[in-house]
Parts: sequence; C-alpha cells; structure tokens
Amino acid sequence: MRAKVLVIYTGGTMGMVPADEADPDSPLVPAGRDRLARAIVNPPGDIDWDLIGLADGAGGTLPPLDSSDVGPGHWTALAAQIAAAYADYDGFVVLHGTDTMAYSAAALSFLLENLGKPVVFTGSQLPIFVSRSDAPGNLANALAIAGWPASKLPCIPEVVICFADVVLRGNRATKVSTGAYRGFASPNLPPLARLGIEIAVERALLRSRPASDAAFRADRRLTAQIMDISLYPGITVSQLDAMLSVPGVQGYVLRCFGAGNAPGDPALLAVLGRAVAAGRVVVAVKHCPEGAVEMGLYAAGSGLRHQGVVPGADMTAEAALAKLIWLLSRYDAAEAAALVGRDLRGELTAG
Ligand code: ASP
Repeated sequence: MRAKVLVIYTGGTMGMVPADEADPDSPLVPAGRDRLARAIVNPPGDIDWDLIGLADGAGGTLPPLDSSDVGPGHWTALAAQIAAAYADYDGFVVLHGTDTMAYSAAALSFLLENLGKPVVFTGSQLPIFVSRSDAPGNLANALAIAGWPASKLPCIPEVVICFADVVLRGNRATKVSTGAYRGFASPNLPPLARLGIEIAVERALLRSRPASDAAFRADRRLTAQIMDISLYPGITVSQLDAMLSVPGVQGYVLRCFGAGNAPGDPALLAVLGRAVAAGRVVVAVKHCPEGAVEMGLYAAGSGLRHQGVVPGADMTAEAALAKLIWLLSRYDAAEAAALVGRDLRGELTAG
C-alpha cells in the first residue's frame, strides 16, 4: 500500500549551513527549502510526500527559522496548515529545530483536537549536508511513522517526536542533549515506539483514534500571556514579587525544588498567594525531570498548596507552559486551574 505524507519545513539544524560558506566555523543559519530538498536522497519509494514551508498566516510562507524564534503565533499557523491539508494526507512530518521542539510539539497536541493521524516532529543534531549527520535517518524514520499504511505500522494518532531510535509522545518529551544523537527523552512515559531494524510500536501506550476524521479540528486561539519562572536557593521576596507582578500575565509555570517544594519563608509564600488572589494561575512543576509534583509530601511543599499554587503532576515544564497558554486562552482562571491536573492529551499521569 502507498501512503501520502505532508512534510512541513519550519527550519532547524537539519537544513542549516554556515552563514559564511567560506568559513565552516561561522554560525549556522537555515538554508532554503529547495536546498534541503536536493539533499534528501533515498526517500522511501512507497511514500509520496510533499515538502512545504511554514505558513505565515497570511497566505504566504515563512523563511525557515532557528527554533529559538518559534513561538505561539507559529504554533497556531502550523495547526491551521495541518488542518487545511488534513483530509489529503495519511500523516504529517514537521521538520523543526531541536531547541524548542518539545514546546511546539506540546502546543500542537493541545491545538489539534481529536487527532486521528500521526503528526511527527523531527530534526537533527547535525545538518543534512555534513557527513555523519543524523538527519537522513531521522527523516526516514519520521516518514515511516507518518506514512504508516505504507510502512505496515499501526497508526500513531498523536503529536510525537521521532528522534534517533525512539518515538516519544510530544507533550512528554524534553530535550536532554546537545551533543548526543539521542537528543530527547520522555522521563515519565516510555517511548511509544522503538526504532531498530524493525519498528516496534507500543500499542498499549497509544491514545485511541477517533471513530472518524470528521471529529478532528484545529484550535487557533493562543492569546494568553504566560511566564515560566524558577525558584532557586537565595530567591528574595522582591525578586519573586517582581516576576509575579508583570502586567498582563495571566499564568505562571513555577519550577520548584524536588517533588514540588519551596522555601518556607512566609513572606515569600505570601507573594504567591497574592498573585493567585489577583486571578493568576500558578502551576508547580519540578526542576527534576523524573517523578511527579507532590506538594503535601514535605512541609516545604504544603506552603505552596496553601497559597493556591496548582500541582502540575508529572508534566514537563514545556507541556505545562503550552497547556497553560492553551487553557487560559479559552477558560477563566478558576476553570483553567481546575483543568491543569486533568489528563487532556496524555500529557500527565492522573494521580
Ligand atoms: N538552534 C537549532 C534550532 O533549534 C538547534 C537544532 O535544531 O538542533 O533551530
């Protein structure tokens, strides 16, 4: 059986070249789509794929970006682009820089409702133009997952990151290495698939596929202002207060110690309580990648709970940020706070 895959090239190292081609050590910049297309050799013979750029939201196409420049406006444009092509393809591949790939994948998992086809993010640690690049393998694997009817694989109806030898749920993934080929991990969920000579899909972990494509829709509202802030030893009341008082900010991802702990200083905790009382949603996540927030485990965590900080379960900071922007773009603070700990897209393990 043949398959059709739409490949959307947003940018990232995969397609990068030195800014000064005469100086291989000059900083990397993204090359154009045609140049990337010419470097793709040995594409799978049974998958028909189209390569397009990221929509600019006004009928045109953006130049490829370093993912440091990708944000909520690009996430909604990407969701709209996938929705417009949804009926015509078996799956989608998003070529994206690794630096913020986990954020974009998490955001798309919320924007794409009742997804019944694979949306596979991939990129590479080395440009496709250099020897020993991981780009050809990552692209071939992503095409195999997205083109599942041709690859004779189960459909993975999710937003995933396919990188090195694993397929990870996008809203569970985090970048863990700038130097290793295996650049991503999902510390609180096993891989959805492992890629060796054979591709082994963990069917029991997959989200269920909607009965029909008709249920699919892409949501495009991402207007809420969110900040991602961190506790650290020595943080002062005035420092935290300044971060929690930025005008217009509706929600905060608060990176906490251990299992969701904070200093016990009542003045510091009161600053958090004031932010919550002012209608801001504060979600606790952990610096530590593995495990879940348990704010009652230590007295140092109970203080946060008493101030109305919402536990973020075992969500990554990336997923918590994307989820909070999505929630606060469509619900009021109380509704959003109530939904933070609810499993909406497989992003957390419900307690
Ligand atoms: N700076 C690059 C990016 O995120 C890194 C990469 O793609 O690996 O676009």
